[in-house]
Amino acid sequence: MTPLGLYLHIPFCSHICNYCNFNRGLLEGDLKRRYVDALETEIRRAGDGSDADTIFFGGGTPSLLEPGEVGRLIDACRASFAISSDAEVTLETNPETVSAGRMRGFCEAGVNRVSLGVQSLHDSELERLGRQHSAQRATDALAQVREGGIGNTSLDLMLWLPEQALADWQATVDGLVALGPDHASLYLLELYPNAPLREEMARARWSLAPDDDAADMYLWALDRLESAGYSQYEISNVARNRRESRHNLKYWTGGGWIGFGCGAHSTRDGRRWKNRSSTEEYIAAVAGGGHSRIDECHLSHEERLEERLFMGLRLTRGVNLAAISEEFGVDVWARYGGELEPFRDQGLLIYDASFLRLTRPGMLLANEIMRVFISPSVR
Ligand code: SF4
Repeated sequence: MTPLGLYLHIPFCSHICNYCNFNRGLLEGDLKRRYVDALETEIRRAGDGSDADTIFFGGGTPSLLEPGEVGRLIDACRASFAISSDAEVTLETNPETVSAGRMRGFCEAGVNRVSLGVQSLHDSELERLGRQHSAQRATDALAQVREGGIGNTSLDLMLWLPEQALADWQATVDGLVALGPDHASLYLLELYPNAPLREEMARARWSLAPDDDAADMYLWALDRLESAGYSQYEISNVARNRRESRHNLKYWTGGGWIGFGCGAHSTRDGRRWKNRSSTEEYIAAVAGGGHSRIDECHLSHEERLEERLFMGLRLTRGVNLAAISEEFGVDVWARYGGELEPFRDQGLLIYDASFLRLTRPGMLLANEIMRVFISPSVR
């Protein structure tokens, strides 16, 4: 059994960004205290001593917690699961919450990796997104994370932003290279239907670059990062010094994880469940002595296969076909080859009898290609 990952959801932010569709709300002191209590209780109640080797604080803005609160939650994980001595413990962090002192506190509490939500190194772009930090603040924050003793760092960037030109994006990527984190995630801005940013864009007449430019931004960034010593290992993620996100790799390789907190998802031993999304309902369910799980189900053989293919294809190493055949008794090319062949002919997919993997241009059309694995009744 590969060790579990533990995900802790912290749904608080000091400000709501105009494009955000995550499960989060504004920080409120009393609610935060009650929530941390509930989270600790849920972790201790679920603990069964199983091996785990990653803890990931995601949000929201987990760095709004106090170091002592993060320490309590890590201690609860350690008391309830067999956490390996070299576990990866990640804290998602927003630049405006950082000081060297707070980072030292998080480090002493057991955090050894910080994922910093930088998004852009242009103030005008950050303002359009409604972010609370400036480019300089983000740069200073990374220095303070390191000063606080946390050397393993990841930066998040977003591309295809309103009014962003290719040259702007290139300058941000160059800036990231100069900052030298071990890991970076590059996300395309996705505008959900009611995002306030949509209205602001219409009002201010901000436009998005054409689709072809978005593709150029993505491909240029990966080339630039590669020439700076980073290796792409997933559609949106690069790392150097072998510092891939061990936690996120569990999602992409069929590993097991338990999610704690409101709205958190879990997948373990072929079962899947989700916690209640509402913060108050989650706290009430835990305080009432029950658990807050909903939608618990056993994944069928076909669902597990679909997911393994779907997620595995996100990785640059692709899907190991022999492993799939052994685990699921399925010859992937025999079953899906007819539908995948046109993608291979267009140079979007590589099939070499051992692995199935996307080419970089194929990664731009990943969703379209991966639809092949979804059963026709739900496509
Ligand atoms: S900080 Fe992150 S989670 Fe919070 S509102 Fe902004 S994008 Fe959403």
